[in-house]
Amino acid sequence: MIAAQLLAYYFTELKDDQIKKIDKYLYAMRFSDETLLDIMNRFKREMENGLGKDTNPTATVKMLPTFVRSIPDGSEKGDFIALDLGGSNFRILRVKVSHEKRQTVQMESQIYDTPEDIMHGSGTRLFDHVAECLGDFMEKQKIKDKKLPVGFTFSFPCAQTKLDEGILLTWTKRFKASGVEGADVVKLLNKAIKKRGVICTGTNACYMEELRHIDLVEGDEGRMCINTEWGAFGDDGMLEDIRTEFDREIDRGSLNPGKQLFEKMVSGMYMGELVRLILVKMAKEGMLFEGRITPELLTKGKFETKHVSAIEKTKEGLSKAKEILTRLGVEPSHEDCVAVQHVCAVVSFRSANLIAATLGAILLRLKDNKGSPRLRTTVGVDGSLYKMHPHYARRLHKTVRRLVPESDVRFLLSESGSGKGAAMVTAVAYRLAEQSRQIAQTLAEFQLTKAQLLEVKERMRAEIQRGLSKETHELASVKMLPTFVRRTPDGTENGDFLALDLGGTNFRVLLVKIRSGKRRSVEMHNKIYAIPLEVMQGTGEELFDHIVHCISDFLDYMGMKNARLPLGFTFSFPCKQTSLDAGILIKWTKGFKATDCEGEDVVGLLREGIKRREEFDLDVVAVVNDTVGTMMTCAYEEPTCEIGLIAGTGSNACYMEEMRNIETIEGNEGRMCVNMEWGAFGDNGCLDDIRTKYDEAVDELSFNAGKQKYEKMCSGMYLGEIVRNILIDLTKRGFLFRGQISETLKTRGIFETKFLSQIESDRLALLQVRSILQHLGLDSTCDDSIIVKEVCGTVSLRAAQLCGAGMAAVVEKIRENRGLDRLEITVGVDGTLYKLHPHFSRIMHQTVKELAPKCDVNFLLSEDGSGKGAALITAVGCRLRQQEQQS
Ligand code: ADP
Ligand code: MG
Repeated sequence: MIAAQLLAYYFTELKDDQIKKIDKYLYAMRFSDETLLDIMNRFKREMENGLGKDTNPTATVKMLPTFVRSIPDGSEKGDFIALDLGGSNFRILRVKVSHEKRQTVQMESQIYDTPEDIMHGSGTRLFDHVAECLGDFMEKQKIKDKKLPVGFTFSFPCAQTKLDEGILLTWTKRFKASGVEGADVVKLLNKAIKKRGVICTGTNACYMEELRHIDLVEGDEGRMCINTEWGAFGDDGMLEDIRTEFDREIDRGSLNPGKQLFEKMVSGMYMGELVRLILVKMAKEGMLFEGRITPELLTKGKFETKHVSAIEKTKEGLSKAKEILTRLGVEPSHEDCVAVQHVCAVVSFRSANLIAATLGAILLRLKDNKGSPRLRTTVGVDGSLYKMHPHYARRLHKTVRRLVPESDVRFLLSESGSGKGAAMVTAVAYRLAEQSRQIAQTLAEFQLTKAQLLEVKERMRAEIQRGLSKETHELASVKMLPTFVRRTPDGTENGDFLALDLGGTNFRVLLVKIRSGKRRSVEMHNKIYAIPLEVMQGTGEELFDHIVHCISDFLDYMGMKNARLPLGFTFSFPCKQTSLDAGILIKWTKGFKATDCEGEDVVGLLREGIKRREEFDLDVVAVVNDTVGTMMTCAYEEPTCEIGLIAGTGSNACYMEEMRNIETIEGNEGRMCVNMEWGAFGDNGCLDDIRTKYDEAVDELSFNAGKQKYEKMCSGMYLGEIVRNILIDLTKRGFLFRGQISETLKTRGIFETKFLSQIESDRLALLQVRSILQHLGLDSTCDDSIIVKEVCGTVSLRAAQLCGAGMAAVVEKIRENRGLDRLEITVGVDGTLYKLHPHFSRIMHQTVKELAPKCDVNFLLSEDGSGKGAALITAVGCRLRQQEQQS
């Protein structure tokens, strides 16, 4: 009894002693938490370098995007084939994903040998071999005639620019087939498959880390899966302080010396070999096997990673050690076995520690990205070392939790390895591809070809003609209204004028002081007044009483109640003018609908309002459309300006037309500005072939259904609404916002056109788009933001092109009027859409250039056309009146 106890004591002592000796010997392989945290931070920096555009080229950790933007979301189904090349075996799998009630994955697989000579032979041979195995597999599965999608898990560092492409950067592990590095492996595979006559609908390559095989599966969807390629960590010398002589020896003897240095320290593939090298050295130094060194012990590959797993087993580990070492011929003692067991533990522990450090860095990054103090996440892990080794997983988990204590990590053993991963990725890819195909199809309706745009231009030309000519004018939709403005300013205008601006976003009253001569100047004072909704949509009398009340307030404010000032009334609605100071409202637009105004002369309504108040008198000289005001303002600075354009709440244009062409009024001499009222273009159905169901929905929900169809496709008041209607549809079809139509999205007008400008800004990162949407109450993922941005871009592109097509018709008309080969002309433009949208103006200019190549069109931003322009028209009007009175 006592003897036995003594013996046990003796063995414990011996064991402790041995372990201490080895710990000391392998000191460089055992890391303190401090060192691990240091490595974690180094890796975090490397990841950042890999992600940075400028730093990526020299970064070792390449952070390759996989273009897998979402994790499987459970909606994938179908029959897939997955190829898994690059693991210890070449496997082909057939995966059936179905979901009646809950998702089930059925799998059948077969392992194929990849002989050494093929791995090291030519690339063509390797891929022929792959295709051959695939053919065999399909034959056995009796699916030779089926067209199944093939997913390709290719576990080597690949650069992907799209989902179905993968340029092999460098072979790693045991592979070294020639002519493949730098080539697209998907193409190579496809070529080989075609050669064999195997039927497939397509392949895609995606890389998922191996032992490593750590695809970060996280609760949040809509991210792009990044393949870190962390195997190359340290290739720039970053890890020299922790690499040992054994690591260097492994590297020297490998197929890719100097490369994948981190991988060589952690991967299962090199672990057995690492242990063997240590054992050889220890034996040489007489620390093991009484110095016995056998040829077997000296043979590369004789000590395998699975031996490490076996020897580290708690119960039978020592006897396994005895067995394995005996086979190597070194006649191990019990002490030797204890020592070798500990060497294995040090080496595998180091691997788990290093993986924990790099994984910890990824977790930190995720946490930083989320900006939350704690991170809850699930890490899917695969790899035989993780699965087979008795302690590896536990050690890894423990270290990760110690290094990143602020995270709640769940580790999930990825069941069937990369094969299932590939099938899932294929499934996701197909779902995404199908989804983007459908979204593209939806948006394609908005994309107009040059031929279509030319057609729009021609139709506008025809409508212009119909509006101008006497017989057709009544029924024409583009009214071509005479404005009785016969010339642009010449600089001699002088005096103080009042101006009203009604019909824009704000109602304003202005005092404009114009000075001629050497000290030519325009000075303006203005005040903005609100027009309450109930006034906008009440009676005409209420509306004009309100307007007069505002004028009264302004005159008090300026101290000018007693001067009978000439006034120009900018009234931005379609009016039929019979003289400069008479305008009959044809139809309210843009949300106005006060009663008893349509069909009435608005100057008369204003004069009556002034009379009712009995407080002051004014000389209403001109009723002015904002397009005309815009043209006049620019013409004051630039004499070649003979066109006005508005791209704001509404869309409209005016230009100087030859009197002889304006059949609706008397006289053939000179020119007159024509207010086109082109917003109504299409009201006769001539644009129906390019209108979409979304345009129809926007129209139906508007105040003036069936009217202003062109305007509703290209002006600020409606672009956001078009976008909202598309988003509703895409959501209903499950492509957006997780298929949930929120109350916000149902709210009319929620998506203002200014959000298009923000979202489409090139400087904006997706995250910011997301925050804009979030601000709107639209809970979106990054994928959603990408789609929303695409929708906005499509809608505003069409708007700018349609507007450009209309303008091309106008400049061509002017050119032909004047019988010129080339026309040089300036367009005065106003409107917030034009001014603030990041692309609208550029696209519009470009469209005009393409559709009217014989015209050199210059665009000039107008400054306050409705105020300054109205005053200039009034001044010109006053002068003409004086001339008439004199003659
Ligand atoms: P109006 O045409 O009524 O005189 P604006 O020219 O200021 O007035 O245009 C106002 C319209 O411009 C609004 O209806 C809105 O749709 C649009 N808008 C406002 N902000 C932006 C922006 N940042 N980008 C594009 N459009 C905008
Ligand atoms: Mg305006």
